[in-house]
Amino acid sequence: MTDVRTFHPPTALLDALCSCIETDIHPLSATAVSNGSKLFGAAILLKSDLSVVYADTNQERGSPLWHGETWTLKQFFEIPASQRPDVKECLFLTTHEPCSLCLSAILWSGFDNFVYLYTYEETHFVFECHGDLDIFNDVFNIREGEVARQASLDGVQSQVRPQYKLRSDRLVALSFAELLASISDGTVQAEYVAKVEGVKKSYGRLSEAYRRNMGVE
Ligand SMILES: [Zn+2]
Repeated sequence: MTDVRTFHPPTALLDALCSCIETDIHPLSATAVSNGSKLFGAAILLKSDLSVVYADTNQERGSPLWHGETWTLKQFFEIPASQRPDVKECLFLTTHEPCSLCLSAILWSGFDNFVYLYTYEETHFVFECHGDLDIFNDVFNIREGEVARQASLDGVQSQVRPQYKLRSDRLVALSFAELLASISDGTVQAEYVAKVEGVKKSYGRLSEAYRRNMGVE
């Protein structure tokens, strides 16, 4: 398992991940949304220098299985093996905490980590995409009412429980909120909280475009 914070300070991670969402993922998601797909995007970066290996977005208009993460993985594995980095050398970035399908796909692909911007609760309550939490709650054997996850810096204050092990020998899952929380200097932290808020606000506007396209108020 890899906690990517052992390789880079949280500020360097946030710089690279925010830039990847804004520069690499957002334009692809904007196009996909205008074609009727959803706004979930993903990218694969090198752990070593945080350069972007591959970024892509949801293609659900083509198949309900092509979530941002599964489509990105499929495309990544189409890179010839001789030119493709080992997954163990890669960091997996996803705009939204991965659903049960994508979480499994990330692990089955050999990744030992992922980092996400929006939590399940934001996907559910803010983006009003209910599949992730509904499937976990309706299908998986998760005990009701077991409060474990701290309300994050993201501002969605709901009573939540973990749907999966956030830390294990297989996987380290990290949120942007946790990266922000691990910045020790208060002034720098405030600066990065504002930066992440800016990325969220900008990316979140795709939700409005998606609803408009779908004819949802
Ligand atoms: Zn998914």
